[in-house]
Amino acid sequence: MSDTLKMAELLLPNIKNTPDYYENLYPARNLPEGARVVRIAPSPTGYLHLGTLFAALVNRITATSTGGIFYTRIEDTDKKREISGGIEDIIDGLNRFGITIDEGFVSGEEQKGDYGPYKQSERAEIYQTYVKELIRQGLAYPCFCTAEELEAVRGEQEAAKLRTGYYGKFAKHRDITYEEAKVLIDEGKPFVVRLKSPGSEENKIIFEDAVKGKIEMPENDEDFVLLKSDGIPTYHFAHAVDDHLMHTTHVLRGDEWISSVPKHIQLFKILGFKPPKYGHISPIMKLDNGAKRKISKRKDPEAAVHFFAEQGYDSECVINYLMTVAASDFEDWRRANPDASYKDFKFNLKKMSVSGALFDEVKLLDVSKNMVSKLKSDEVYEKLTAWAQEFDTEFYAILTKNPEYTRKVLAIDRDVAKPRKDIARWSEAKDYFAYMFEELFTPCFELPENIEKADALAFLEAYKNVYTPADDRQAWFDRIKEIAPTIGFAAETKQYKAEPEAYKGHAGDLSTVLRIAITGRRNTPDLCSIMQVLGKEECTRRINNAISKF
Ligand code: GLU
Repeated sequence: MSDTLKMAELLLPNIKNTPDYYENLYPARNLPEGARVVRIAPSPTGYLHLGTLFAALVNRITATSTGGIFYTRIEDTDKKREISGGIEDIIDGLNRFGITIDEGFVSGEEQKGDYGPYKQSERAEIYQTYVKELIRQGLAYPCFCTAEELEAVRGEQEAAKLRTGYYGKFAKHRDITYEEAKVLIDEGKPFVVRLKSPGSEENKIIFEDAVKGKIEMPENDEDFVLLKSDGIPTYHFAHAVDDHLMHTTHVLRGDEWISSVPKHIQLFKILGFKPPKYGHISPIMKLDNGAKRKISKRKDPEAAVHFFAEQGYDSECVINYLMTVAASDFEDWRRANPDASYKDFKFNLKKMSVSGALFDEVKLLDVSKNMVSKLKSDEVYEKLTAWAQEFDTEFYAILTKNPEYTRKVLAIDRDVAKPRKDIARWSEAKDYFAYMFEELFTPCFELPENIEKADALAFLEAYKNVYTPADDRQAWFDRIKEIAPTIGFAAETKQYKAEPEAYKGHAGDLSTVLRIAITGRRNTPDLCSIMQVLGKEECTRRINNAISKF
């Protein structure tokens, strides 16, 4: 037996399979030409981050646009950083935003698909099989350096102003023999397995990034770790093995991974795998005192996707907004297809921002207002009450006390050809609808400057005698117009405009007085509808109350 074969048996005696076994177990996917297989590979180390949601969206829409597959894989090789419920938080978050998952983890517990397991901690044997093969071929070797020894080398490199790392003459165990390794293993010394890098800093690798274009970097010459001392792979190695066996065609991930591409391409080559296409997604940025910076998990509440839920942004609005961030041609498409689902958009990675698009809350509000305005009142009822149940239980109790009434409130100026665009997120609804619910109504009886109190009172006294709830909008306004001349106001605005000195105001001013009496506000949706929903008794009570308070 050659030394490398003996070394492989010495280091990984329990591994009996060879890579062929897995190559046969996970055959090529049967997909149409051009279909892209993409994934996200989150680590369950915290809440669902905006960056992960964004990457998931970009991957999802890439799969959808090409008739491919979008899958999730959990990278849980760093057990120290894992939090309990981490997988659930991420997957539930994606589900909540309507990002459908074809394969992999589809909930906190359940994984589906023929290329699993989709959790790296359950794949240790697979990684070790491939590492064993590399050791057999003399392309990987054990390293017994302690943390202190590595630290000392680093210090030496820094002092000599050299690149730090385990390479070239600093790769102490690169040429370790089977006999030397055997002695150390018999002594019970822990070891990692490192790649014996065939690369040189002098050489360049060039690759075409699907987002950023052509990139040139020095080849990797570091003997980086493949398997840690506990037999668990590093990210780099797991990435190569998993994306190969799962037949990923495009790795679309955060651009913090660009600097690792030389390592990854080298691994694919050494392992005899066809490398995927890489596309590195720029982070979402934020303006901070005029300077652009990455959204930070520490400083920015919107870094946590939970922020959007709490604020009551509809998940579809957030996704549509993120599509405007993802693709520079999405807004034009949206204008041409106002009612289509974003899923019908043909996404092209070349339309992504190379430098990092700005998170623009004003635009998010705008996209949301547009989309919320198109919801039917029944949908608003469902979504608003679901939000309130989770985030504002007092409001939830008010909304659900009399669902029929609430549904009528929500239908005002909705379900019509040109609905109003007042609400962007559910957290605005309580204030917006306050005057429709007695528990929330705190009227403000302040008249506009151009209206005398005596005129307001005279108008309201006259109006309450003629108010007829059954009036349609026209008849409703006609009543106000009929009263106007009796108290010195013009019935028509154009009369008033032609001769302003002849009138105290016009019928429109009087409708403002009525609006303030009924709602305590100068601006509201259609007052005639509001009054119909409130009912005659309540309107009369409010008018009388206003008469006594103005
Ligand atoms: N676990 C890595 C991350 O969360 C995955 C990167 C990748 O997609 O390859 O950033």
